[in-house]
Amino acid sequence: MKTQAALRPYDVVLIGGGIMSATLAMLFKHLEPTWTIAVYERLPEVGQEASAAWNNSGTGHAGLCEPNYSVENADGTLDFTRAVEINEQFQLTRQLWASLVEAGILGKPGTFVNPVPHLTLVHGQRDVDFLRRRHETMSAHPLFANMRFSDDPKVIGEWAPLLTDGRESAEPIAATRDITGSDVDFGELTGQLFHHLRWQDVEIHRNCEVRGLRRNNDGTWQLRVDWRTDNDRLTRKVDARFVFAGAGGWALKILQKAGVAEAHGYGLLPISGRFLRCDNPEVVERHDAKVYGKAPAGAPPMSMPHLDTRIVDGKRAVLFGPYPGINPRFLKKGSLFDAATSVRRDNVAPLSAMLGDNTELIKLLLSQVTMTRKKKLAALREFAPGIRPEDWTMVSAGQRAQIVKPDAERGGVLEFGTEVVAAHDGSIAAVLGASPGASVAPAVLLQVLDQCFPRYSRLWEPRLRELMPTLGQSLSNDARLARQTMARTAETLGLAGREVD
Ligand SMILES: Cc1cc2nc3c(=O)[nH]c(=O)nc-3n(C[C@H](O)[C@H](O)[C@H](O)COP(=O)(O)OP(=O)(O)OC[C@H]3O[C@@H](n4cnc5c(N)ncnc54)[C@H](O)[C@@H]3O)c2cc1C
Repeated sequence: MKTQAALRPYDVVLIGGGIMSATLAMLFKHLEPTWTIAVYERLPEVGQEASAAWNNSGTGHAGLCEPNYSVENADGTLDFTRAVEINEQFQLTRQLWASLVEAGILGKPGTFVNPVPHLTLVHGQRDVDFLRRRHETMSAHPLFANMRFSDDPKVIGEWAPLLTDGRESAEPIAATRDITGSDVDFGELTGQLFHHLRWQDVEIHRNCEVRGLRRNNDGTWQLRVDWRTDNDRLTRKVDARFVFAGAGGWALKILQKAGVAEAHGYGLLPISGRFLRCDNPEVVERHDAKVYGKAPAGAPPMSMPHLDTRIVDGKRAVLFGPYPGINPRFLKKGSLFDAATSVRRDNVAPLSAMLGDNTELIKLLLSQVTMTRKKKLAALREFAPGIRPEDWTMVSAGQRAQIVKPDAERGGVLEFGTEVVAAHDGSIAAVLGASPGASVAPAVLLQVLDQCFPRYSRLWEPRLRELMPTLGQSLSNDARLARQTMARTAETLGLAGREVD
């Protein structure tokens, strides 16, 4: 293998070609058009890992339907802080996409985002009562004012016929529905962003894997890139003033290679996923919703079952899942040794503590790996009793790499969100974790900019507001602004506006 001397120092190098790198590159190009930017992607195409359409569920997470984002306190009050936080973040996402559509940077919105109502479905009197109380509280909030509740099977059947077709059980059911929900093709969005960036002189190198990083004497980074062409393979050295590891499940590996102290103690729990997919038009046309149910008691949020309309390449389909399981890879196209090679002296204790604390979860994940198709279909029938097995095929989803981090009391804890880890000098940063990741990418990446470029924040704020006008304002505290903002983005993105009673 040939080795080539270091190339010119780029202002920014992004490792990985998923939605995170695409969004951050777009923000940099808007803020500093003259900065030099290069992206290195190990696969032959961008957007093929977690961001690819069929590797995730495509839910535009806004806290409208996910039961785990609103929990009941011991005193019976509802804590939906997390739902509000995610909704506020998703409103920024909608604003960024709307601005890019208006600027002609993104294509027709229907190519990557579509209106699909978000529903929560529960069974049994206890959960029906909880959902009613949840609706009463949440629908009084400006961001959830479109949420409707029903415990009438006839109404639920009108909202989503598959939920009531063939339902014979006398067990009570209830649902909430919010028509402002969306389905997103994050893979298509990633592709469109990179397509534009390429014309803006952002270098996008595919088949290029970053294998190593080290510090230069002047504080910049030198990346060792394994560069594959049709008939050659060479190692190139690339210098960068700022590095972003948008490497999905491999982001921690990049921080570890770079010796970033802030990543010490961090580990990952890899979780695979499978979906049942249905393309039969007769079924597909009877379902226009993303319906989330409650995860079984003690099970993690990613095992929360959901029956989803998906719109990919203009075609509609329905998926159910995600049947989480254990798989040692941190990326779908990663290595069987990912988990083993990520264990370091600094994260052994947090990882062991996390495993000790989560034996039930590990058992559940292992049991899902061996779950028969019959049992998987039984789980689907709890949502859609009338389904025909022959309409559904099993497909593999992307890999989730859930964060394990040190904890003073418990030694190590498992986290289910998305987290920014940056070096103290702001020269390198990464995004770890999975959902609600892609939906809240702009908000997460604004944190990267804040943490790594504090000197620029004053300068950049007005330019960021051109893309996200309500940046820095709380929509929760201003019902009028919330209504106006949602109406504007709904119109530009072709999403549903306000519910009319
Ligand atoms: C089953 C599942 C369901 C999900 N559902 C949802 C959902 O409904 N809504 C939602 O908002 N989010 C969802 N998510 C989360 C969402 O998919 C992720 O947050 C998002 O796609 C992460 O984007 P990324 O750019 O960080 O990573 P990725 O899309 O994984 O991209 C990382 C890229 O980096 C490349 N790479 C890695 N290492 C290197 C290296 N050393 N050199 C060069 N290239 C490298 C990889 O090949 C890959 O292309 C889901 C995830 C999963 C797995």
